[in-house]
Amino acid sequence: MTPQAQLPKVAVIGTGGTISSISADPLDVLDYPDFGRKGTVEEIVARTPEIARFAQCLPVGFREVGSTAIGPADWLALVQLIHETDAAHPDLAGYVILHGTATLEETAYFLSLALKTRRPVALVGAQRPASAVSADGPMNLVAAIRTVIDPAAREIGVVVVLNDEIQAAREVTKISSYRLNTFRTPDYGVLGQVDGDRVAFYRRGLRPHTADTVFDVSGLDALPRVDIAYAYAGADGVAVDAMVAAGARGMISAGLPPGIPPPLQRQALERAARAGVVVVQTSRGGAGRIARRRYLREQGMVAGDNLNAQKARVLLMLALTQTSDPEAVQRLFDTY
Ligand code: GLU
Repeated sequence: MTPQAQLPKVAVIGTGGTISSISADPLDVLDYPDFGRKGTVEEIVARTPEIARFAQCLPVGFREVGSTAIGPADWLALVQLIHETDAAHPDLAGYVILHGTATLEETAYFLSLALKTRRPVALVGAQRPASAVSADGPMNLVAAIRTVIDPAAREIGVVVVLNDEIQAAREVTKISSYRLNTFRTPDYGVLGQVDGDRVAFYRRGLRPHTADTVFDVSGLDALPRVDIAYAYAGADGVAVDAMVAAGARGMISAGLPPGIPPPLQRQALERAARAGVVVVQTSRGGAGRIARRRYLREQGMVAGDNLNAQKARVLLMLALTQTSDPEAVQRLFDTY
């Protein structure tokens, strides 16, 4: 076996989540968010000593919360923490971030757009708490470590590793509450798989990420407010008007597929756009691209490409740190 000191070094950052959750009952896979506790990153890493066969692990504490409590302020702090860790440890092979699955896809896409490291970053979660019979977290953690130290992961950006699958931060979404195969990449599929013999990569995303984006959040302590207007049969404009009144600078319309809100909601979005709120059209369908059809162009609205509503919100928050011109925002949506 390779001596520890010769193994690649990986920073493991703890934010909490199911992967860090500990319940008194080994069969509790339901009540732990409300009645269990979250372990520290040191505690969770120590439960999987097999990591030491692959890497030297540098545990870095950040948060011990469910990811339902992670938001934009945490994303900014996490970027800063990773940049500081990058500067302090130039010998790191990559990063693994323990994260709850609920908002994991949003944190992943934010990091993919805002981080300035070229080292690979894997977000890893679990569907069963660490205390559960057949907990999936330990093997997911090993898989994430093996992914970021793999030579094929060089400059791959931010990926999500669960259930032996590697998926792109920009594309992956959580689709099931309890199933272990909850993370899916609609239309395109996984980037690679983590098997017993090796990590097998098959493709990479083409959109620029991390050090190759225009976004620089250093020095920011907040992001512009962006809300999501969910479409449903008969939806009116009450929620959109209220979000604008609350100070939204951007609005994501999760329209009825193919990206059309019902009439009263649509009128409220037109009012918002006229008032200077940047409106981005996506679809609640969860897959497929929204093109910038004539109506969107004429209303000065932006087409959300193939991003789901929550990911379009992440990009729009970052876009608004640069511009509030819908044409310029459209170019950012066409690029990232
Ligand atoms: N899977 C959830 C998460 O995103 C669990 C919520 C919780 O533990 O509070 O962290």
